[in-house]
Amino acid sequence: MDMKVNFLPVASHLNWDEYFMLQAMMASFKSKDPNTKVGCVFVDDNNHQLTMGYNGQIAGIDETQIPWGNIKSVPLDQQKYAYVVHSEANAILHAKASLEGARCYVTLFPCHECAKMIATVKVKEVVFLSDKYNGTVENQIAKRIFDMSNIKYREIELRPDIIKDLSQHFTSMIG
Ligand SMILES: [Zn+2]
Repeated sequence: MDMKVNFLPVASHLNWDEYFMLQAMMASFKSKDPNTKVGCVFVDDNNHQLTMGYNGQIAGIDETQIPWGNIKSVPLDQQKYAYVVHSEANAILHAKASLEGARCYVTLFPCHECAKMIATVKVKEVVFLSDKYNGTVENQIAKRIFDMSNIKYREIELRPDIIKDLSQHFTSMIG
């Protein structure tokens, strides 16, 4: 009898970058923002999750009194921008441990306000999925802050297979 009968070939479907970016994407899915859903997860050198967040309203307030629209022709107090807390800010605010030396996986390249916070808590690397505001003044400031703070940043792409496989996996779990 073959004693190795249970030694099945193991295929690792996800590398760490893919795994954590999917977590960041999952967090973004929780956002109520109808236009821009952003999620992030911070991890340590052992690939353990430290904190995560998504863009949302101020905790504890009556959200029905706050607009989600992004139209800028009305006063600022009638725009979402006056109230929304970004995913990175939420993650940092709710972290239970130091984020020094952490990697930040985020679905959208951080804005300059979040870049300030990411640099202040001494994150060492930012991994992002989209940089759709590349070239704007705020985006350039964020990159300048990261460069001055020696924070590396890199874009990753998710293989289309992953989303298909994940969808099949989820479907099989609830079937
Ligand atoms: Zn931000």
